[in-house]
Amino acid sequence: MEAPPNVLLLTFDSCRYDALEAAHTPVLDSFADVLPARSPASYTYAAHHSFFAGLLPNCDQPIPFYNRFTRQLLGLRGVGETAVAAGALIDVASDCNLVTGFRDEGWQTVGAGAMNWFRQATLTTGFQHFRWTGTDADAQVDHLLDHVDPRRRFFGFINFGETHAPFSYAGKSGACPVDVRARIMGWPPQRGSGPVGRDNPAWAHQVEAAEFIDRRLARLFSALPAHTVVIACGDHGECFGEDGFWGHGVDHPVVYEVPLAIFRLDGESVG
Ligand SMILES: [Zn+2]
Repeated sequence: MEAPPNVLLLTFDSCRYDALEAAHTPVLDSFADVLPARSPASYTYAAHHSFFAGLLPNCDQPIPFYNRFTRQLLGLRGVGETAVAAGALIDVASDCNLVTGFRDEGWQTVGAGAMNWFRQATLTTGFQHFRWTGTDADAQVDHLLDHVDPRRRFFGFINFGETHAPFSYAGKSGACPVDVRARIMGWPPQRGSGPVGRDNPAWAHQVEAAEFIDRRLARLFSALPAHTVVIACGDHGECFGEDGFWGHGVDHPVVYEVPLAIFRLDGESVG
């Protein structure tokens, strides 16, 4: 029987489904279609705690692993909705989360995070090598490749920050002219007079940032073993003025819509 695949979880922070779908991403496209899914949470900390418990963004279409009620990909044995998690492709037992479970079962656990939340031990516990990098995809890819021994099973993780406001990336020319963060909102939200959603100038900046990340994936993927399952997703979306809502960490349907792609680097079926 073939050994279980390695797992690589990549989160494009704040990335809207429509931004990644519109972005020119030849590397991701060569492996899988990106589908719309809904995140279980509206902001980084909660979303990643959920992902580290096996509850990834969920797709409406009944596709195994994209829709956990069809079949869940990663499961924490005996915790939460045990009936849904029971048939997971890869499951581990832990009294903390998947990462500690993987570590305790002998996997290498290596991660890198861009957002401030990844300075918290609750999100980095279980990783044998974790680096908080700020927004720096190249440093994150370096960290993973420096610490993963491709001959041994691993759980790898990167939280990319380029798609988070202000959508900055190495070599970018021209700053995003719009502050999209939730902190600019008043309450109750007031619909403004400017362009919203895809028509807001910030949207194109997020698209560009996603394209930057895709160019970094070529180096990462080519250095990793073929029998690796990759999950690429947004951790939550981002409001660009819809109904007066901005940013994330706010309850608007747009904040929950994220891209999701699940594939193996050798092109074989995940299950
Ligand atoms: Zn986030």
